[in-house]
Amino acid sequence: MSYIDRTLEMVSKRYYYQAEFLQAVKEVLGTLRPLLDSNPKYEKNHILERIVEPERSIKFRIPWTNDKGELEVNRGYRIQFNSALGPYKGGLRFHPSVTPSILKFLGFEQIFKNALSGLSIGGAKGGSDFDPHGRSDVDIMRFCQAFMLRLYEYIGPTIDVPAGDIGVGGREVGFMYGTYKQLTHKYEGVLTGKNLLFGGSLARTEATGYGNVYFALNMLASRNLGLEGKVCTVSGAGNVATYCVEKLQQLGAKPVTVSDSRGSIYDKDGIDVAVLKQVKEVEHASLTRYAELRPSAQYVAVKDYPEGRHFVWTVPCFAAFPCATQNEVNEADAKELIKNGCQCVSEGANMPSTLEAIQQYLGAGILYGPAKAANAGGVSVSQLEMAQNAHMVHWTFDEVDNRLKGIMHNIYTRASETAKEFGSPDNLLLGANISAFREVADAMILQGDY
Ligand code: NDP
Repeated sequence: MSYIDRTLEMVSKRYYYQAEFLQAVKEVLGTLRPLLDSNPKYEKNHILERIVEPERSIKFRIPWTNDKGELEVNRGYRIQFNSALGPYKGGLRFHPSVTPSILKFLGFEQIFKNALSGLSIGGAKGGSDFDPHGRSDVDIMRFCQAFMLRLYEYIGPTIDVPAGDIGVGGREVGFMYGTYKQLTHKYEGVLTGKNLLFGGSLARTEATGYGNVYFALNMLASRNLGLEGKVCTVSGAGNVATYCVEKLQQLGAKPVTVSDSRGSIYDKDGIDVAVLKQVKEVEHASLTRYAELRPSAQYVAVKDYPEGRHFVWTVPCFAAFPCATQNEVNEADAKELIKNGCQCVSEGANMPSTLEAIQQYLGAGILYGPAKAANAGGVSVSQLEMAQNAHMVHWTFDEVDNRLKGIMHNIYTRASETAKEFGSPDNLLLGANISAFREVADAMILQGDY
């Protein structure tokens, strides 16, 4: 049995109850054969056995008192997965579905994403099963304070720098930053995604969505294609989806869908970004409200989706941008996308496609931008925020946006050249995984048996 297969068997036995983590490990290890077969040093140094185990996992209870005076208890986590390339870096997710398995999959992916950015950052992820939906601002603030009270001693600007993710945006980062400052008396870049008033970076809000579209442009250019005039589908209606839609429109494409956990919008005239922001960022309402404000829009509730399918992926498109959550594109969705002529899938969310869906994209030869490459714009601009904080400077929007474009181009080039080097020129998943793994693994070997 090969080194990879033995490791997969060992991880599957040990973590049989962590489905999402196992999926992420299979996705990465399954592409490393060409590298590992020709380089015995990785096996000799037990790199796979080490890389699948987090360096440190912190788990804590979060008791806090809500605005009705009742005590609630949530679970909090920080998975400090790998620091071979730099301080731990990765977001915090507040969502009822958060478990160690979800955070380990996200942290594992983050190691390789951060390596691809070329910006000297390690990989981490954290969060809580707290559900922010429908909570008052006071509840959100108290929960964020309680969360940071337990986390602050494990983080720092050269140790571990958390950011946002699902359920954690600028408001939550602000409350956590205020608490960190109170506890440590330090005004330092310990979190990214901060407000511009206290160390935030211009273009951080837009970075993941914009970066995803820049990555798609790089992929399309390799086939002499572009986005102008093209119908696109986008899922999600949060930070990543909104700025993906905005950039698509700026480039003359026509994004026609968005979705949230309750339903989807199909807007035949193209999504109106101002209305979307009003509904999601100002009113924090459901997408039914978007349909009320836009006569051209059709709302489809989750319960009315075609059986076992996600409505968004049944809409014919030239390019698809999954920007909501993990495993939101299954095999049937992928087949339908391809049947309807989709030529490009660029992932804004983390692990939005199942392993079977990925096989469909690769089998059909359509352009496929895997999440760890296509959505690396967010963490990259977070690192630019760290750099600005360290030097106490502020760059302009255009300066950050231009650096983001350059970083996404570099990531595409790395993934594409490595894919060619290992004989699979169209497989950016293989190229991204091998390129990132090689860098992290070599750094681990050079740092001894830690
Ligand atoms: P937000 O919380 O801003 O938005 C998430 C969106 O996805 C919401 O519209 C939400 O709907 C929807 N959603 C969440 N869970 C589900 C579900 N189970 N089924 C259907 N829809 C769901 O998060 P972000 O936009 O920040 O994150 C979206 C994705 O992008 C995640 O996978 C995240 O890990 C990834 N990502 C984010 C980065 C960032 O910079 N923010 C960086 C890199 C990756 P509802 O409001 O109804 O829950």
